[in-house]
Amino acid sequence: MQRLVLAKRPTRQLTQEHFRLEEVAPPGPQDGALLLYPRFMSVDPYMRTRMQPEGYGYISHWMSGSVLSGYALAEVMDSRLPGWSRGDWAVGHLPMQEWVAHDGHGLRRAPAGTPPLAWLHPLGMTGFTAWLGMQLLGKPSPADCVLVGAAAGAVGSIAAQLARKAGARVIVTAGREDKRAWLRSIGFDHVLDHRAADFSEQLRHTTPEGLTLDFETIGGSAFAAAIDAMRSGGRVVVCGLVSQYQQEAPRRAPHNMARLGERGVAVIPFVAPHFERHFETFLDEMSPLVTSGRLHWRLDTMQGGLEAIPGALIGLFDGDNLGKRIVAL
Ligand code: NDP
Repeated sequence: MQRLVLAKRPTRQLTQEHFRLEEVAPPGPQDGALLLYPRFMSVDPYMRTRMQPEGYGYISHWMSGSVLSGYALAEVMDSRLPGWSRGDWAVGHLPMQEWVAHDGHGLRRAPAGTPPLAWLHPLGMTGFTAWLGMQLLGKPSPADCVLVGAAAGAVGSIAAQLARKAGARVIVTAGREDKRAWLRSIGFDHVLDHRAADFSEQLRHTTPEGLTLDFETIGGSAFAAAIDAMRSGGRVVVCGLVSQYQQEAPRRAPHNMARLGERGVAVIPFVAPHFERHFETFLDEMSPLVTSGRLHWRLDTMQGGLEAIPGALIGLFDGDNLGKRIVAL
């Protein structure tokens, strides 16, 4: 069977040369274990940060030779573990390889009643991140004017809908016209291009009274524009800084960062794994939105198996996804 390995660590732009497929012997059925075949792998921007030598403390770093891993929806092909049956759908963090022997620890069964693929997006890590950052930490209300960047992507699309549901005025951004058209089609009226040279002016024009909440996913010049548009006493939930992940260290903070202090803006950074204890509450709140169809969620599914994963990941940094990117194996 094949598995996907980091061939060497990138220092700047990720390319195909940074990956390698390896041929290894597949695991067989084992007592006390599940034999899984991952059918869909999630591909996410944070994977690039796992390749940074300085990395982040909350997740292990990938070095040359590391087998890549990610959230996956896997079919149970054989079960010698009580409580699991052949044909179940299992969701969890799995190595990027064709067959996986697993002791079940940390796996969740996708229950009947929701589409299994929802567990890789609105009911999975990206939905959880959006819910944590917006609902739990951002706490939007009808008094808020909220900015959500990269809102045609996975986390942003869910976060923006949660802010709207809370009654806030929501401004969303996306870097391509078809993405902005999709955002308009699901009911957002204020849709801007964070890649436009005059984004800062556009933002201030759309929010003359200023933003009270910035759900930051992009960083760089888009973040600087948001800072300029912040109202005194507002808050910034720092979800991610995707524009910075391919920059060589040291990565720069926006030039106007000090303005946040001048204006008394609270800065709230977070990483989802630190909030695992809230996962069941998240599911209780999010599942009805998914099963009732009230939440718009969109998958960007690439075909081609393990071989397609490097291109799928590289493409995220060019913004070539619309919705949550996954790869079918
Ligand atoms: P997305 O589906 O939003 O895909 C990434 C998008 O980011 C692209 O489509 C593109 O959108 C935009 N983008 C990429 N590179 C650049 C760039 N150089 N400049 C401007 N825009 C860029 O990914 P996710 O929803 O999975 O992740 C969104 C953010 O949330 C990321 O910052 C990620 O790190 C963060 N995150 C944080 C977590 C946490 O625990 N705090 C957990 C999961 C994600 P466009 O074409 O519109 O420009």
